Amino acid sequence: MDERTKQRFYSSAAWRKLRLYKLSIDPLCQCEVCNLMCKDTIADEVHHIKTIDSNEGWERRQDITNLMSVNHSCHTRITLDENKQHNKFLKQLKFKYIENKKDIERLNFITSQTLDESKRGEGGSSGT
Ligand SMILES: [Zn+2]
Repeated sequence: MDERTKQRFYSSAAWRKLRLYKLSIDPLCQCEVCNLMCKDTIADEVHHIKTIDSNEGWERRQDITNLMSVNHSCHTRITLDENKQHNKFLKQLKFKYIENKKDIERLNFITSQTLDESKRGEGGSSGT
């Protein structure tokens, strides 16, 4: 989803209303860490479990079951973790791409060698 569409959504009255509603029914942070430590941290932000950057998350941007009340500091941590996961994924992709590129270069090398050999063969036959 592009930034402008996202911004428009975040500033929409519908989202602001839904956000306040979510915070009113779940006023405490629902993040894993707070849950695990049974910490009663006041939630002041609402997090999309499925990020609105994904198609599913965007479809479910106003779905209350895709929302999580979180505290600002927990939200920062969650976003950082998600980005880390994302970067890891990108790195893997890049690695795969490089591996593929090597394969292609190897293939090109082999093909060019075979082509050279066949050319040499043709040249020999035309000489006689
Ligand atoms: Zn938390």
